[in-house]
Parts: sequence; C-alpha cells; structure tokens
Amino acid sequence: MPHKWGLAVDLDACTGCGACVTACHAENNIPTVGPDQAARGRAMHWIRIERYWEGEFPDVRLRFRPVMCQQCDNAPCEPVCPTYASHHTEEGLNAQVYNRCIGTRYCANACPYNVRFFEFFNPVWEKPLHLQLNPDVSVREVGVMEKCTFCVQRINAGKIQAKAEARELADGDIKPACAQSCPSKALVFGDASDPDSAVSKLRRSSRGAGLLEDLGTRPNVTYFPRHTEA
Ligand code: SF4
Repeated sequence: MPHKWGLAVDLDACTGCGACVTACHAENNIPTVGPDQAARGRAMHWIRIERYWEGEFPDVRLRFRPVMCQQCDNAPCEPVCPTYASHHTEEGLNAQVYNRCIGTRYCANACPYNVRFFEFFNPVWEKPLHLQLNPDVSVREVGVMEKCTFCVQRINAGKIQAKAEARELADGDIKPACAQSCPSKALVFGDASDPDSAVSKLRRSSRGAGLLEDLGTRPNVTYFPRHTEA
C-alpha cells in the first residue's frame, strides 16, 4: 500500500520561535531575499509563522500558526499548470518539477494558502554560505516556482535506508526539517495510511481541522486549535 504523508500541527505547543523556518531554509536551499525584495512582496519562506492577536487591548493574546504547503488532495494549483510541473504523487504529495516549470505563476494565483514562491532572480550564496547548500536538493534558478515538499529528499532517503536494512519503514523514521527542529514537538509527520502512526492517531481526533477546508481542497495538514479555541 502506498504511503500517504501527512502533518499534524499542535497550535497549543507552537511558541512561534521560528526554528522550523530556519531549518527549512537550511535544508531546502531557500535564498534569503533581503529587505528590498521583501518590500515588493517577494519574501520566500516555504513555511511561515502567521502571527495574530486575540482579544482587546490590554487583554490581548498572541497566537501563532505555522503555515506550509498543505499538500492538498484536491490541490487547486495542479489543474491550472499548463506543463504539469505541479502534480500529485502516488504518496499524496503535491510535487513540483522545476525543469518543467515555465513560470506562468498560475499555480501561485490558484493556491489559497499563499505557499508557492516564484524565483524572481538567480539567488546568490555569499561565501561561506555556499558551503551549506544541501546537495540532496536542487538550487533553483530564476523563473521557476518552488514550494514545500514535506522534505521529499528526506522521505526518499528514509525509504532507501529502510530498504537497505531489509525492514519496513517505521513511524518516526522520517522527519521533515521543520518537524525535526521544532523544540516543542508541535509538528508531527508520518504516514497517514498507517492507522497506528502518530499522525494517523492525531488525524482521527475530532479537534483537528484543515485550513480553509470549506474550499474543498482536502488538505493533508491537520491543525489542532488551542484548547481555549476548541
Ligand atoms: S519550531 Fe515549532 S514551536 Fe517554533 S515556530 Fe516552528 S512549529 Fe512553532
């Protein structure tokens, strides 16, 4: 049975520290665009921490919500891509083939989560930062769209490792950079087709909900609201 990758996000546990954002940048060779590009709406973070306030001053509470590609089963970005660069894999991932992308940006316009990013320039990796580029991840060039893949390179490495050791992939073998780096274990990644996996157990909880689920996107990221919000 093919895997079906999913992520659970515990908003009670997230402190908004941003470790996941930093880890994602380092793992996936994501450039830092700088203030000029950011001011033009071109900031690039495959995962971002949304910050919002609840209540009225002075009785306000700060809330955080990590948002990454929701790997939707019904992804609006896929049917609009004229070159099938944005497509669905057997394992439920919304994959992006950089070599096929011709940069129409239809997918970014179709995505309600704002998690697709266009390379407006060729990134420059100033020394010594070029030494930290991850050889398992391609360095994208100007004109292509890029996005979170649940660290597909880690998924593939985990599968290869399990095969080399002649065993089944175990729950917890694979952790995307965001989940690995989260100090409060707010992000739980795993195979949703395995009923005993941690992510499956979480997804069965009635407290979980998808972001903008009403749109019919069928996201594979499940959010667990703060207890005060439930
Ligand atoms: S690393 Fe964990 S706690 Fe920190 S912002 Fe990301 S999800 Fe929240």
